[in-house]
Amino acid sequence: MVRNPFDLSGKVAIVTGSNTGLGQSMAVGLAQAGADIVGVARREQLETEQKVSATGRRFHSILADVSQMTSIDSIINGSVERFSKIDILVNNAGIIRRNDALDFSEQDWDEVMDINIKSLFFLSQAFARQIIVQGTQGNIINIASMLSFQGGIRVPSYTASKSALMGLTRAMANEWAAHGINVNGIAPGYMSTNNTAALREDGERYQEILNRIPAGRWGTSEDISGPAVFLASEASRYINGFILAVDGGWLAR
Ligand code: NAD
Repeated sequence: MVRNPFDLSGKVAIVTGSNTGLGQSMAVGLAQAGADIVGVARREQLETEQKVSATGRRFHSILADVSQMTSIDSIINGSVERFSKIDILVNNAGIIRRNDALDFSEQDWDEVMDINIKSLFFLSQAFARQIIVQGTQGNIINIASMLSFQGGIRVPSYTASKSALMGLTRAMANEWAAHGINVNGIAPGYMSTNNTAALREDGERYQEILNRIPAGRWGTSEDISGPAVFLASEASRYINGFILAVDGGWLAR
């Protein structure tokens, strides 16, 4: 029988920020493709647990704040204790702070950079070390942004973190390809989640953005799960260091 290259049966995927939004959707999508899921969140995530369990796959919740360096080992060790190994890491947890660049505070800079880029690197490092110990293949998927490619407005630390994420994805891909670890990213366009609630509440800005999207609609959380399955699977084995835009054509304009 020919193996389906998108099949994730027997794989274990860690998804950070899995309690809501894109993280929840990717956790469910990876489970539908066959993976067991470790969901990392700061609070209980019963909805994600129920949705993953409904696919017939196992779900393990780890409550952790990824901005704390002490969380890194507990996430990797907790996953390995529960499932004996890990195969896929989705670095999805992220935050955004909005203010004019002239008024932007050090706190809004540091909090965003700590979660969106620093913890992403050190969690990826711990994941890669575990894959090397296991002697298996690994896939890392970093959740980027349109602001990995563009400057944005009133979100300087978010732009800095997501632009750094693109460079770091390439840097990690270069070093770890030799160890059988593919590092790639997904750049969501404008998706209807908590992350964009403020933008959607501003009717004028909402319409401006909508008018510029060739697909003629904002994205949904579910739009991201197919691309996540692809980048987590054997189907993408010769893709290294690439950021895939899932944006309804926003960047093509
Ligand atoms: P969201 O705000 O609903 O989700 C963010 C997730 O990260 C939540 O689950 C939250 O609990 C988690 N998180 C935040 N800080 C954390 C911490 N310290 N420790 C653990 N978890 C933490 O928004 P979303 O749109 O689902 O965002 C997911 C990712 O997608 C983010 O990296 C975001 O930057 C990115 N993104 C979103 C959009 C969009 O349009 N929604 C566009 C581009 C990129």
